Amino acid sequence: MNNKIVKKFEDLPSPSYVCEQDLLENNLKLLKRVQDEADVNILLALKGFALYSTFDLCKKYLKGCCASGLHEAILAKEEFGGEVHTYSPAFKEEEIDEIIQLSNHLVFNSFNQLKQFRQKALGKTSLGLRINPEYSSVEVDLYNPCAINSRLGITKANFEEDELEGIDGLHFHALCEQNVDALEGALKAFEDNFSMYFKDLKWVNFGGGHHITREDYDVEGLIKLLKDFKKRYPHLKVYLEPGEAVGWQTGYLVATVLDVIKNGMNLAILDTSAEAHMPDTLAMPYRADIRNSGIANEKEYTYRLGGNTCLAGDIIGDYSFDKPLEIGDKIILEDMIHYTMVKTTTFNGIKLPSIVIKLSNDCYQIVNNFGYNEYKGRLS
Ligand SMILES: *Cc1c(COP(=O)(O)O)cnc(C)c1O
Repeated sequence: MNNKIVKKFEDLPSPSYVCEQDLLENNLKLLKRVQDEADVNILLALKGFALYSTFDLCKKYLKGCCASGLHEAILAKEEFGGEVHTYSPAFKEEEIDEIIQLSNHLVFNSFNQLKQFRQKALGKTSLGLRINPEYSSVEVDLYNPCAINSRLGITKANFEEDELEGIDGLHFHALCEQNVDALEGALKAFEDNFSMYFKDLKWVNFGGGHHITREDYDVEGLIKLLKDFKKRYPHLKVYLEPGEAVGWQTGYLVATVLDVIKNGMNLAILDTSAEAHMPDTLAMPYRADIRNSGIANEKEYTYRLGGNTCLAGDIIGDYSFDKPLEIGDKIILEDMIHYTMVKTTTFNGIKLPSIVIKLSNDCYQIVNNFGYNEYKGRLS
């Protein structure tokens, strides 16, 4: 860990993920307002945002973390404190004791898993089951928990109502980057099929995928929906566990142009990689925004931007600029905080981006730097 303070943007290491503390705090304040006005509990999903040097700030606003297994549960306990809610598609015998000890809530993906671990967990943590509400509104299957034949959650047909001993809650996670209308649909499906079991429960968890901090998100609509739900079931505690909404639009990835060449068009090679540093641009796929750029041919100088791995498809996209790109120029890829640093790889031996927090006083704190050890350390 480095923690060096740098005053000027030009002095940042390249590449770097730069999270702006003030923007993060604005998101946290909005989530806290939902939490307070609707009387619900909001957890941070570590899967999407695990920038733990900001957790002292996050824990002023949110109740805890949702973890997807042992390592995330340990990180939640070590760095965040508060409540730890752990769900995994399948827990392992050799890890379950430690997970039980770390977790306030433990959510099983199937009745098999419940039966395997119930006796160990009973009385030590609050037990829940993940439901598949079979309400599918996410268009890309890679991100759709309710896609056909999904392994995530228990469907109505597989629900064993005689096996609910020790179950305090039900959990569903059916959304991805969505607004209140999608939650309304998923919640209706959930209630239609499972509300008959609510009377014996203590809590329900509406999962993540709520894009609460996006500009066009209907925050008032969400508060109303949550309040209405609580009116129908006043005995239930309600949890939400967004990841993306916490880190949404809180910073960028800054990279440097290493070379400019031609092959039928202008090509620029950056010291970053779509494949290794922003894999969702290839997986979704989506086009990242770049500061002060346009789509191809919108501005005078168009370039295809590529990464410095040897993967032919390591291409960020075609962008146009007002001035020709030159070696050494900085490129700022917007909104590269959530689902980026949690997914990086050292593929092809390229350096991981440094991690930087832009503080409220406009100084930059370099919270982590990486090098050869991260590459070698995961091989043998
Ligand atoms: C991914 C995930 C989340 C967080 O989803 P976001 O889209 O980042 O809000 C929450 N809960 C579960 C179970 C998840 O798998």
